[in-house]
Amino acid sequence: MSITGIKGMNDILPGEVETWQFLESTARRVFALHGFSEIRVPVVEKTELFQRSIGETTDIVEKEMYTFVDKGGTSLTLRPEGTASVMRAFIEHKMHAADPVAKLYYLGPMFRYERPQKGRYRQFHQIGVEAVGVDDPRIDAQILAMLSQFFDEIDLGEVELQINSLGCPECRPAYRRQLVAFLEARLGDLCDDCRRRFTSNPLRVLDCKAAGCREATLDAPAMLDHLCGGCEQHFAATRAYLDDLGTPYAVNRRMVRGLDYYTRTTFEMLTANLGAQNAVAAGGRYDGLVRELGGPALPGIGFAMGVERLALLMGDKDRISPPPALFIAALGEAAQRRAFVLMHQLQRQGLRVEIDYQGRSLKAQMRRADKLAAPLVLIIGENELAQGVGQLRLMADSSQREIALEGLHEAVVAELTKLSGAGQGA
Ligand code: ATP
Ligand code: MG
Repeated sequence: MSITGIKGMNDILPGEVETWQFLESTARRVFALHGFSEIRVPVVEKTELFQRSIGETTDIVEKEMYTFVDKGGTSLTLRPEGTASVMRAFIEHKMHAADPVAKLYYLGPMFRYERPQKGRYRQFHQIGVEAVGVDDPRIDAQILAMLSQFFDEIDLGEVELQINSLGCPECRPAYRRQLVAFLEARLGDLCDDCRRRFTSNPLRVLDCKAAGCREATLDAPAMLDHLCGGCEQHFAATRAYLDDLGTPYAVNRRMVRGLDYYTRTTFEMLTANLGAQNAVAAGGRYDGLVRELGGPALPGIGFAMGVERLALLMGDKDRISPPPALFIAALGEAAQRRAFVLMHQLQRQGLRVEIDYQGRSLKAQMRRADKLAAPLVLIIGENELAQGVGQLRLMADSSQREIALEGLHEAVVAELTKLSGAGQGA
């Protein structure tokens, strides 16, 4: 019996991977415009990093982590998200000493033991950004505007940016007490998970996806009505800057996030087209996190996008690898040897070239050229070879003319230029 992949962990095949590459290169380009540099961190960290940053009572730490003990007896975890690792690296390399503002982005696989379904997998991929060192609400607005710009550029259509403020350690405890009092009176209507959350992490009840819990908490008190002066001002300024930039958003007063480290600005980019998996990007401010992980008291803000969900939404946009510029069809052993060398030379000169590897008939080779959608085919047989020429065939109109193999690169480039000119004219 053949060995299969692991449930919830996907292969990304040619035909799909082009969409991924497009998303990645667009992210790299847009983030670079805003001054972000890439950082690459390992996919495995010490388990306590995630316990301490994400929080013991979150879904991720309670039930979703891939944790194992390595041969040295250390508990390690496949990273469930990127922020903790990036902050660990930021602190470990004292990046704040070199530059008081760090603007970083990352992309790569994340691992969570969840129930696999459309848009929810056990190995999934995130593209994320983190900005450390800036309190000013302009960075909040810039990051949201950058997220918006990315979504405009990938042309995903119907997405909505929702924002909220989760307050800070100064104002959240009082709000939390009010929420607890509110929830206590409705415990009977909450799901089992939420009854547990009620004692461990009551804010998370507002994030529950169960219909009963949503209904029971419809008029729950909102953090927004309980912000301290500083948080209130910060949120108002963030909104004002977003308005200045013309970045559309909606305030969602009940948005909380599944990780403990968030403070003040939190946000999600939502789509109506992915059922329950409606968040394509999510993030927020985490002003206490760097300190909590043993670093200096620096504020931070970031987000992560789920690449699988973006790719699903992009689905029917046809993005395939470009076809070869030229297919060389060769007949007979000597011509095949020459074709092989010509291909190599043209590739070194920057052209995409394909040949047939199986010594098949001319007809079969032409069929393959057609399948690969090569616009040009160079045909060489023993006679042509002896004269140092080949037949250059234009697949569009099946016209054919003899050309010298000497100077083949120039001839092919000239023909491609003509073709692209014709394509533009049409
Ligand atoms: P959800 O509420 O959908 O579980 P989350 O709050 O757990 O999302 P985050 O931890 O904020 O998600 O991660 C940011 C983004 O990563 C999400 O908005 C989503 O697009 C994506 N994501 C999260 N978990 C998964 C998963 N298991 N499979 C695929 N994508 C995911
Ligand atoms: Mg989740």
